[in-house]
Amino acid sequence: MKTIGMLGGMSWESTAHYYSAVNQGVQAALGGHHSAKIAMVSVDFEDIKNQQYAGDWAGAAATLAEASRQIEAAGADFLLICTNTMHKSVPEIEAAISIPVLHIADATAAVILGRGIKKVGLLGTSFTMEQDFYKGRLKDKFGIEVVIPGAEDRDLVNSVIYDELCLGALNDDSRAAYVRIIEGLRDEGAEAVILGCTEIGLLVGADDTDVPLLDTTEIHAEAAVNYALAD
Ligand code: GLU
Repeated sequence: MKTIGMLGGMSWESTAHYYSAVNQGVQAALGGHHSAKIAMVSVDFEDIKNQQYAGDWAGAAATLAEASRQIEAAGADFLLICTNTMHKSVPEIEAAISIPVLHIADATAAVILGRGIKKVGLLGTSFTMEQDFYKGRLKDKFGIEVVIPGAEDRDLVNSVIYDELCLGALNDDSRAAYVRIIEGLRDEGAEAVILGCTEIGLLVGADDTDVPLLDTTEIHAEAAVNYALAD
């Protein structure tokens, strides 16, 4: 079994879920008292969040590159960056380490293509929904068409992520708003909606809507387990 590198803390609420998911996956596959081999560094999200909002992406990338070096030095065979948004820093992280990064958008694209889906909705932070590092990868590398909510709803989705979900708050009104937005994306032709922020799956799930949801935390964790257990 390979050692999974986890770059966590963004936020720790979702990293806790990742930690459970990879251990459950290994236990389900191998039985007994098996659990995942993990080397993890968890950063202080206050610093990263401030850098994001100040547009200091180079500063955030430097912090994550250093944390990734520590994870490699601790014996990880590959790296999971446990956030969609900070995949923006993948080029700097890949340049800092020699182990592979298991990209969250690539793992998600594999599920989308496997289900024959051509057009998806995307929910995430404003950075993920509006910038090109994520949507562009889905489109250019995999030919997947991506639709996002309108400006007002993007603000709402983003505020709920930072002001509620990253702080462990789950509110019924926010869940209802997310379901409305998800179903609006379906009305625009999305065959499924990517929960493209690692906390969203804590708020909404298959019980809340009949629109197929692609939970990136679950997908990324499952891809990590498969990679860790492959020959
Ligand atoms: N966990 C979130 C994501 O998947 C947001 C926190 C962050 O900005 O890293 O994008």
